[in-house]
Amino acid sequence: MGRYRTDIREIEQLAAEERQRLRPVTETYVFRVNDYYLSLIDWDDPDDPIRRIVIPSEVELAEYGSLDPSDEESNYVAPGCQHKYGPTALLLVSKVCGAYCRFCFRKRLFREDVEEHHVSMDVEPGLRYIAAHPEITNVLLTGGDPLMLSPRRLDQILTRLRAIPHVKVIRIGTKIPAFEPMRVTDNPELLEVLRRHSRADARIHFSLHFNHPREMTEEALRCIIALQEVGVTLVNQTPLLRRVNDDPAVLAELLERLTWWGIAPYYIFQNRPVAGNADFVVPLREGYRIVEQAKARVSGYAKRVRYVMSHATGKIEILAVEGERIYLKYHQARNPEDYGRFLVCRLTDDAAWFDDLQPVA
Ligand code: SF4
Repeated sequence: MGRYRTDIREIEQLAAEERQRLRPVTETYVFRVNDYYLSLIDWDDPDDPIRRIVIPSEVELAEYGSLDPSDEESNYVAPGCQHKYGPTALLLVSKVCGAYCRFCFRKRLFREDVEEHHVSMDVEPGLRYIAAHPEITNVLLTGGDPLMLSPRRLDQILTRLRAIPHVKVIRIGTKIPAFEPMRVTDNPELLEVLRRHSRADARIHFSLHFNHPREMTEEALRCIIALQEVGVTLVNQTPLLRRVNDDPAVLAELLERLTWWGIAPYYIFQNRPVAGNADFVVPLREGYRIVEQAKARVSGYAKRVRYVMSHATGKIEILAVEGERIYLKYHQARNPEDYGRFLVCRLTDDAAWFDDLQPVA
């Protein structure tokens, strides 16, 4: 496994003055990266997209957004367990990732000074809640990154979930195939755990997190092949990020490559207004144009992706933008009455989130 670096002063590729300047940023938002991911960065380009994913910038300290704009706090039903949509529960099983994305929407979890009520890495209360709620048929293991757990721990959690008869779908959200693919490829014990639990009649489903085609390296491909060989299914989700993947050609390449590798492009997320994320904002009008121009370049399978906002009220799909109007539909809804609801809102050029929109009466 590669070495983790959690002190920006260790990043020798940055000038000494820059390391010094970025230190206060890492005191607010935790820094972590590993040698493999560092090796993907083009250090001659100060705006390199891979660099922007993990290397802090001073813009993170600008006044912007809030730590929990989707109000996940209100979704906790037990420590470490969120239940927002009827059939789906989330278990937050890890507080660590292979590196930390600077745009992470759960960065509050990694801060020692922010007390996120209810979060605990003890999954027992969450498992008891899920077992007592037969409407929960889907469980998403998330965090942090579940693949940072030891294979033994992951096995225990999967075994417990498999013993709950109404849980039909187990999903694992992970960025390890992008951040540190050898953590999977060189880990026969982990692969064996996944093989055992991903049965032909009840697969384990992975939600991957490739943001940029340059993350899709030979090592990443070996990791994907290893996952496919043990029988898990693979989809990908990525936020749309300024100067990372906000170019239709880059986004199209990502969608195509995912498809070639047998990974279904599932969601493109409108980046939430999370504190520290001002430098990643792409307004909705521009975001829609980028996504549509990317889709225009790719084949049908790569076009399956949906452009959505994960809002406190539900997952809202951006269907179209025409003139001053934006057309939306609830793809998931916290309030069941909103499910499938179609909305027409007024759109300004700088609107970047659902709360910036005015519904048209
Ligand atoms: S991998 Fe996911 S949870 Fe981890 S830092 Fe990135 S966005 Fe956050």
